[in-house]
Amino acid sequence: MKVFVTEVFFSFQGEGFNVGQPRVFVRLATNCPLSCVFCDSKYARSESRLLTNEDLLLMKKHPYLVFTGNEPLFNDGPEFMKYIMTEVHPLYVEVETNGTCLPTSISELFTLINLWTISPKNPKTQSREIDTAPVLLGYLRENLLENYVTKFIYNSKDDEDFILSIVDTFKVPNFKVWIMPRGENRDVYLDHLPLAWEFALNHGFNLSPRLHVETFNTKRGV
Ligand code: SF4
Repeated sequence: MKVFVTEVFFSFQGEGFNVGQPRVFVRLATNCPLSCVFCDSKYARSESRLLTNEDLLLMKKHPYLVFTGNEPLFNDGPEFMKYIMTEVHPLYVEVETNGTCLPTSISELFTLINLWTISPKNPKTQSREIDTAPVLLGYLRENLLENYVTKFIYNSKDDEDFILSIVDTFKVPNFKVWIMPRGENRDVYLDHLPLAWEFALNHGFNLSPRLHVETFNTKRGV
């Protein structure tokens, strides 16, 4: 099978539940249906190459993977993930997703994935009108699947009602909620950190750093 990726690299998970843990990041070349104004992976929409044997060897050497965006559940993403997991037999797989797509073509992914990190997006942060409903979160909750956490990007105070409404609608427990400052570069990240900190603490949510941005600013592949 031909699998298209934007990049594959070994680094630390810089955000969310598994922060600080070494992972191989697999950025699938699947494009994304959303249009977030703060998107820090726009380059991935136009950069695509074939997955190589070297990529697979790196994953076999470090079999703790993160499939990330673009949106890894969009287009052929589920097929790409299934192929890689069959080749590599990873010990742990996290998927970073906006939650707007369901991998219905390969439904075993719902349970094969160790952790779905679902990052619902506020419609007000889209550069065009688009449905951002996190259907994946609804599916996992309806089917009593617990292999998920949520991670919300804190862009402004306007996001607070949106975050609280998603948490309430899907009955997400606080220990599964991470608030992460907007941070496509270090200055933006540091500007947004105090308000994200205050909001997370006020509601008993977790606060996520962006270690790669703190350390390397906008450098890619870290
Ligand atoms: S969901 Fe993620 S990849 Fe898609 S536009 Fe938003 S930030 Fe970018």
